[in-house]
Amino acid sequence: MNQTDIKTFADMLARARRAVFFGGAGVSTESGVKDYRSKDGLYTTVKQYGVSPETILSHSFFFEHTDVFYDFYYKYFLSAEVRPNPAHIALAELEKRGILRSVVTQNIDGLHQAAGSRTVRELHGTVMRYHCCDCGEEFSVDDVKKARGEIPHCRSCGGIIKPDVVLYEEPLDAQTLTDAIRDIASADLLIIGGTSMTVYPAAGLVQYFQGDSIVLINRDETPYDSAASLVFRDKIGEVMSTALTLLDVRC
Ligand SMILES: [Zn+2]
Repeated sequence: MNQTDIKTFADMLARARRAVFFGGAGVSTESGVKDYRSKDGLYTTVKQYGVSPETILSHSFFFEHTDVFYDFYYKYFLSAEVRPNPAHIALAELEKRGILRSVVTQNIDGLHQAAGSRTVRELHGTVMRYHCCDCGEEFSVDDVKKARGEIPHCRSCGGIIKPDVVLYEEPLDAQTLTDAIRDIASADLLIIGGTSMTVYPAAGLVQYFQGDSIVLINRDETPYDSAASLVFRDKIGEVMSTALTLLDVRC
């Protein structure tokens, strides 16, 4: 990690009052969350189910092949025990200190809230909440885990339970999008982490940022590297926790 850059990052954080963190899958892979978009995930899925993860996680597939959907969904999103990593923990701490306004995430694992973050804009929804397709009753992730990959049914009406996850073919939640745009448009520092910035709506959202400094933390190059004041190619957990430590030394 570049020592000058990480000190500069800590200085930026020290001045920020409305920073926003925009994060993608790379934030969660450091917690051991399986990335179904990775080559391995894709290969295994196509071999096992005969279709791509994007097809399984689509609105039409959910209703046409609910049993296959849940078999895949349980394996990829519910079977492993995952915990917040140092990136999630540092971000929660920055919010507590009045530096970070919100986390805007493409992830659906609920790990930011598990680490203590309160204002989390979950663009693609969350695996932590569910509802009955027929009567609308809400269910927790623990209710659905009990089905162990079988189709979970509503205890009130017997209807099929659906995750509050934005599936392919479904629109993003309008309120969540509005909140994310407002946060980014009024942010004084934008930290982008663990995303290639190529998946919709990531690229579009960043256009709303009007502040001076973008800090980019990603292993691979992104189309936004040239727009960033600082670029880190290190692990996001290490960058965020080191910046937080340097911030403490300053105070
Ligand atoms: Zn119901």
